[in-house]
Amino acid sequence: MKNTTLVTKESRMSTSNILIVDDTPDNLRLLSKTLIQEGYQVRCAVNGSMALLTVKAKLPDLILLDINLPDMDGFAICEQLKQSESTKDIPIIFVSALDEIFDKVRAFEAGGVDYICKPFQIPEVLSRVSNQLNIQSLRKQLLQKNQLLQIEISNRIAAEIEIRQLNFDLEQRVKERTSQLTAEISERKQIQKKLEYIAWNNSLTGLPNRLWLIEKLKKLLSFAHQEKQFRFATIILDCNRFKIINDSLGRRAGDELLSMVGERLKSAVLTAKVEEFLTPNIILTHFGEDKFAILLEPIKDKNCAIALAKKIQQSLTTAFIIEEREIFMAFNIGIVIGNSSYLKPEDIFRDADLAIQKAKNSSSYYYQVFDTTIQNNALEILEIETDLRLALQRQEFYLNYQPIICLNTGTIRGFETLVRWNHPSKGFISPGKFIPIAEQTNLILPLGMWILQQACQQISIWQTRLNSQENILTVSVNISAKQFEQEDFIEQLDQIIYDTGIDIKHLKLEITETLLMNNAAIADRVIDQLKARQIKLAIDDFGTGYSSLSYLDRFPVDTLKIDRSFVSRLDEKNQASTIVKATLDLAHNLGFDVVAEGVETQEQVEQLKAWGCEFAQGYFYARPLDKDSALAFLQSNLDQHNPKTDKAA
Ligand code: C2E
Ligand code: CA
Ligand code: CA
Repeated sequence: MKNTTLVTKESRMSTSNILIVDDTPDNLRLLSKTLIQEGYQVRCAVNGSMALLTVKAKLPDLILLDINLPDMDGFAICEQLKQSESTKDIPIIFVSALDEIFDKVRAFEAGGVDYICKPFQIPEVLSRVSNQLNIQSLRKQLLQKNQLLQIEISNRIAAEIEIRQLNFDLEQRVKERTSQLTAEISERKQIQKKLEYIAWNNSLTGLPNRLWLIEKLKKLLSFAHQEKQFRFATIILDCNRFKIINDSLGRRAGDELLSMVGERLKSAVLTAKVEEFLTPNIILTHFGEDKFAILLEPIKDKNCAIALAKKIQQSLTTAFIIEEREIFMAFNIGIVIGNSSYLKPEDIFRDADLAIQKAKNSSSYYYQVFDTTIQNNALEILEIETDLRLALQRQEFYLNYQPIICLNTGTIRGFETLVRWNHPSKGFISPGKFIPIAEQTNLILPLGMWILQQACQQISIWQTRLNSQENILTVSVNISAKQFEQEDFIEQLDQIIYDTGIDIKHLKLEITETLLMNNAAIADRVIDQLKARQIKLAIDDFGTGYSSLSYLDRFPVDTLKIDRSFVSRLDEKNQASTIVKATLDLAHNLGFDVVAEGVETQEQVEQLKAWGCEFAQGYFYARPLDKDSALAFLQSNLDQHNPKTDKAA
């Protein structure tokens, strides 16, 4: 089998170029002839210097070199060629007659590759030449391969270095990206946290919000369904007059107030937590604009919720200072005891609302614990609403008149008209119950006008009696805010006055201070028009609403009516007495007269008299009377104090 890497004879012959150096012409001839015959290219040199020149002219592939030459010996030529980079690899075969071991060694030491002894055998020469050319060719191939390998190795090394560099760069980038990503992730986490915070908390107070409360209630209810003994309380605080503050002082003040309220509630809850009589878990939430809720869980009974509600209320009694004003906040509190009878949070909110509503309507309690009677009441309200719509057509309303008496003399000063509803199946329904519903449903507008109409008609019937010598008696009519705010209120009033032909001096309108505070602009306008007609005005239920004494002088009213809740507590030596006394002083300073409402005892009469209160109204003198009894009362009172009064009038 032929080795494909071996150079074939033919290809070698065509390329191989041999230099024969010999000073013997016969040798030269014979050798060159033989080699040319073999297909080699042959050049000849007869001495050393010629040989070197020939080599320089064109490098031979092999040199047959005689040792004995005329100018230098073959060893010197060989050594010289071996020293030059370009010629050192040319294989040199020594040809000599010096067949001694010493010379052969020298020949090899000088760099020769073979040695042929003279007289030579042609086949030997050919074989040695061919061998050396082969070796040389293989050597060249090897060298080439080596070079290629070298290149590959250096390429690989370069590639490896590059790969290492790339790896390093990559690692560096991975590191950088990782730290970037870590930063991004932590930023995202922070954003996520912020978003969650915004989603679950009120932005003003930072307290958990409605969404949070609903989720928490769902959890508590689901637990209550597993553990039937489990009870928890939801205390909902509803601000009484936030809207007024927001409307009068502006949103920013409103916000400031709410966050102050939030702070007070937080610290109240915190102290409650420290006091261990309360349940372990108390959570305060801010779940509507002016609504806060507190969760207590678990609880044994409603008492700890009530205790906390009282604490909360206490914490809110001192004034808040907003824009250098003192502002008092009052809350109505609804408490719901959560247990397995509740299915969803909305049911708890519904019942809490009902309890709050009841607290609002109650004069003695600012808090209420929800129970089924409250729910029944709510249902009743719904029924009343339906029946109210028909009552006016069916003429189920009528008026009562409660005398107002001069405290000093006991003479009658006038009457307050009070509407009555005789319901066909439910019997007498208190106006305290149906008036608020009529207001909510706007039924107060036709009802109010009917009342005004009736009252004026009564005035016109009683006119001569009312027009007694010294006294000009007045009939007071309660006017609801809704009526007052109506565009054509004055117009309608004028119409009624015209239709009934009454003397206007007998008419007085009672409006509440909350009406004045809530709608100062409208109040200003309407009051101006009333004053232009010389219609008198009284502020009703004074002390229960905004009680902003400093606002009072702005409105030209005639009378202040101190609310029954203060008068009824006059006997006790408490805050109520102070308020009544202060109100009297203020009212007199402003030039108003004062009617004390709900006077029931002699003691109250004496006290009020002593403080200079002008008038009183209450069961002590008379209950609200129907029109005939009222006229009889008027007649006998006038008779008693003015015996000369014309009875026939
Ligand atoms: P108000 O205007 O403060 O009326 C006085 C209330 O106190 C009346 O209750 C009267 O019956 C009651 N009262 C008078 N003296 C005494 C007393 O010595 N002791 C006690 N415990 N109560 C006394 P009433 O008639 O139930 O009216 C309740 C409220 O309903 C009124 O409070 C008023 O706000 C409203 N209201 C009554 N009639 C009308 C009306 O014709 N129009 C309007 N808009 N509201 C009315
Ligand atoms: Ca009144
Ligand atoms: Ca009143």
